[in-house]
Amino acid sequence: MDAYDLVVIGAGPGGYVCAFRAAQLGMRVALVEKRATLGGTCLNVGCIPSKALLYSSEQLVFARDHAKDHGISTGTVTADVAALMRRKDAVVTKLVGGVSALAKARKVTVVTGTAAFTSPTTLAVKGPAGEKALSAKNFVVATGSAPVELPFMKFDGRRVVSSDDAIAFDSVPAALVVVGGGAIGLELGSVWARLGSAVTIVEFLPKIVAAYDDDVVRTFSRALQKQGLKIETGTKVTGLREEGTKSVLLAERDGKPLEFPADKVLVAVGRRPFTEGLGLDKAGVALDDKCRVKVDEKLRTSAPGIWAIGDVVAGPMLAHKAEEDGVAVAEWIAGKAGHVNWDLVPAIVYTEPEVASVGLGEDAAKARGLSVNVGRFNFAANGRAISGDATDGFVKVVADARTDRILGAQIIGRGAGELISEIVTHMEYGGSAEDLGRTIHAHPTLSEAVKEAGLAVSKSAIHAI
Ligand code: FAD
Ligand code: NAD
Repeated sequence: MDAYDLVVIGAGPGGYVCAFRAAQLGMRVALVEKRATLGGTCLNVGCIPSKALLYSSEQLVFARDHAKDHGISTGTVTADVAALMRRKDAVVTKLVGGVSALAKARKVTVVTGTAAFTSPTTLAVKGPAGEKALSAKNFVVATGSAPVELPFMKFDGRRVVSSDDAIAFDSVPAALVVVGGGAIGLELGSVWARLGSAVTIVEFLPKIVAAYDDDVVRTFSRALQKQGLKIETGTKVTGLREEGTKSVLLAERDGKPLEFPADKVLVAVGRRPFTEGLGLDKAGVALDDKCRVKVDEKLRTSAPGIWAIGDVVAGPMLAHKAEEDGVAVAEWIAGKAGHVNWDLVPAIVYTEPEVASVGLGEDAAKARGLSVNVGRFNFAANGRAISGDATDGFVKVVADARTDRILGAQIIGRGAGELISEIVTHMEYGGSAEDLGRTIHAHPTLSEAVKEAGLAVSKSAIHAI
């Protein structure tokens, strides 16, 4: 039996980052992954392929719909789906290869196969090279998540698909119905709408991306509708009727039946923690009421020496959150002062415009009865945004009315995902809205809208009334 200081199960952004940090800290580490490649959901079928498709489809929209406004003639613009998919696959291959190279350089032993605990200190890994037993002083469960299936509409990879299929369609579906107006539904819905699909988003709640403030969601919904996406909120899906090769999604709103014809139905109603076949009972690892691995404030499970991180535990299912969990656990195992500020996990939807948030939004702060001042600045008054056709959207900063400390921010606009980082940093250091407003921002940049929103908290924005 091979013995290690640490065995990490799952090589997603949580697991591989944990393994690398532990190796940096001098541990002998094995990283077990059942996929042939490292990088987990994020690199193989999630964050990265979806962003590659979003980027390619953005270029298509520019060439097809906007280039002429800049005096650029393109002739007829068409999309070659096979070529677009090849580029996306090449991006994934490059990145997963990079992770393998890093594992090698850090002397992390990669074991390919499916792991299951045989006791609290031993693991069996079944892989292409047969079965292997591993023992370790510490284990980290980083097995991630899987798409939630609707019980009356199981995934079949053809009519009813998950994101795994929707990042790899071989042609543009004439009509794509997306169940779920969250990050996956809106990102992949945008990709296929740009490529020519008639996309309808069917959302159960009264608004899409429900965690965002109402004014952000109103602006966002309008922008997506302008791009041709249909948005049906407050709509409950009830079933699917097959009509030859086509399907009809059945739903109801306010008790009235609705029908949405579709070539494909993408179900994107969330993801569930993945713990199947892991033998957690043999290791004494308890689950919580939502089948997530139960952990304490240091990500320790109920079994001594077994830790859990990323999508398989409570908290936002985001790659950067999984990475921070991984670093902290490696440091705690090494006896160091690991730390994750789970209150400051930024979230982004990478559509056009992007939406990004951190901390408390205005609506949530008010619902909690907090006394806040809100500064808002529109990109329509930002020089760089006007120069680059990015005037849709705004920055909102929410600050404590008494102390001026920033409690959160929401941004809708081009590059919102990059812009939010600055606010996260200010918040990490306990910054106030005045700190943000007095920090020099280069001109002309979109980031000046962040500064102005900071100033707007005290009604001192320079370029707005
Ligand atoms: P995962 O990445 O799911 O990795 C878990 C790994 O464990 C997998 O590789 C799996 O094969 C392996 N595994 C499971 N069981 C076993 C076993 N028994 N033995 C061996 N190996 C096992 N997040 C963002 O922050 N930004 C984004 O832009 C973003 N876009 C996304 C787009 C899509 C389409 C999807 C589906 C997700 C996206 N996410 C995004 C979410 C992100 O992918 C996850 O939050 C992240 O991958 C979680 O990391 P993890 O390490 O916890 O798990
Ligand atoms: P999500 O939780 O972001 O959104 C799911 C949406 O589906 C919600 O709006 C919910 O109200 C709706 N919904 C749930 N049940 C429904 C039903 N029966 N009918 C209609 N609507 C229903 O989940 P997702 O979009 O599937 O993404 C899964 C996970 O992956 C999330 O945790 C997300 O954060 C992560 N992810 C992140 C990114 C990103 O960071 N850009 C991108 C993709 C995925």
